[in-house]
Amino acid sequence: MECSSDWKWQIANRITTREQLEALIELTPEERAAFDGGTPLPFAVTPYYAALLGNAALRRTVIPTDAERHTGAGELADPLGEEQHRATEHLIHTYPDKALFLATTHCSTHCRYCTRSRLVGKNSGASPPFAESFQYLEKHTEIRDVLVSGGDPLTLPDATLDALLSNLRKIPHIRTVRIGSKVPAVLPMRITEALCALLRKHRVWLSLHFTHPAELTPETRSACRRLSDHGIAMVSQTVLLKGVNDDSQTLADLFYGLLETNVKPYYLLQCDPVRGSAHFRTPVEKGIGLIRSLHGRISGLAVPQYVIDAPGGGGKVPILGTEQIHREGNEIIVVNYEGKAFRYPDTEARAKGS
Ligand SMILES: *Cc1c(COP(=O)(O)O)cnc(C)c1O
Ligand code: SF4
Repeated sequence: MECSSDWKWQIANRITTREQLEALIELTPEERAAFDGGTPLPFAVTPYYAALLGNAALRRTVIPTDAERHTGAGELADPLGEEQHRATEHLIHTYPDKALFLATTHCSTHCRYCTRSRLVGKNSGASPPFAESFQYLEKHTEIRDVLVSGGDPLTLPDATLDALLSNLRKIPHIRTVRIGSKVPAVLPMRITEALCALLRKHRVWLSLHFTHPAELTPETRSACRRLSDHGIAMVSQTVLLKGVNDDSQTLADLFYGLLETNVKPYYLLQCDPVRGSAHFRTPVEKGIGLIRSLHGRISGLAVPQYVIDAPGGGGKVPILGTEQIHREGNEIIVVNYEGKAFRYPDTEARAKGS
């Protein structure tokens, strides 16, 4: 099985049907029903990731269940209102100075809670040519930061990525280019020396998607080390998922593991109310409690910002846990990770009437 270390082999040999999956693992009746009933997001995992599915948490993130065919209250196909902010075939322009570039609708492995399940695995555009999107970016001089996402841009061939990044780097007002990807977790063999050199050449930041410490296999850790050795700056995004990572120890293990491989935990995202996500979503109170339990207990570098991506396209809003702070006269009372209260003497900023 020499070829299993080749990323193109991994993509060509993806597991996409119930029969292929059942040859590897035994499905529950609920999982089988989901396959037979059909789901909005097609099923796909790389052979590499399939080998990790003995882990119950990872299994829950990629194997369909009957629950996702149920649309819960307030759930939408496009929860972030991205289509309302679509500027060109490939660009979502929600914030004033940053734009989201949807470079592909392809992913090597499909996450059941995917916010873009309306697009992923479908041949609905979002592939080259990108000319119209480059023109839009050139014209909109207020855009400083481009986040290249999809789908997963690192499933594109090197030559396509090189051309895309060269074109972005040619636009003088664009200061930062990021790529959002889950490839190091689901297809680590994609992180070749050639790809690292290409990302280095274009001074790209990576925003990596990780869900659970079981994803930090030796292969994934060495993929991250290769990137880090090439000077690529990396942050991570984690979606808070019920029954997957919604406990303090799992998150602490994940965030420490990421730091060890030079990936800075950036966002812990409240799960978006995408259609069929109710079984994945935790109460917001839970997320606030989890982040509070981490602040102070573990390395500050390991603690991400907990955010809700405002439904309808309001952008990401940091959730600070306001019950941790209240005022008594001129003192601010702050509550730490142990639930203990401490007093901070405030300045006179809150003058009456201002
Ligand atoms: C998340 C996101 C960005 C990047 O946001 P940051 O908070 O800067 O990481 C840009 N555009 C859209 C539409 C996004 O959803
Ligand atoms: S990697 Fe991202 S875009 Fe792809 S299926 Fe998972 S959440 Fe969706």
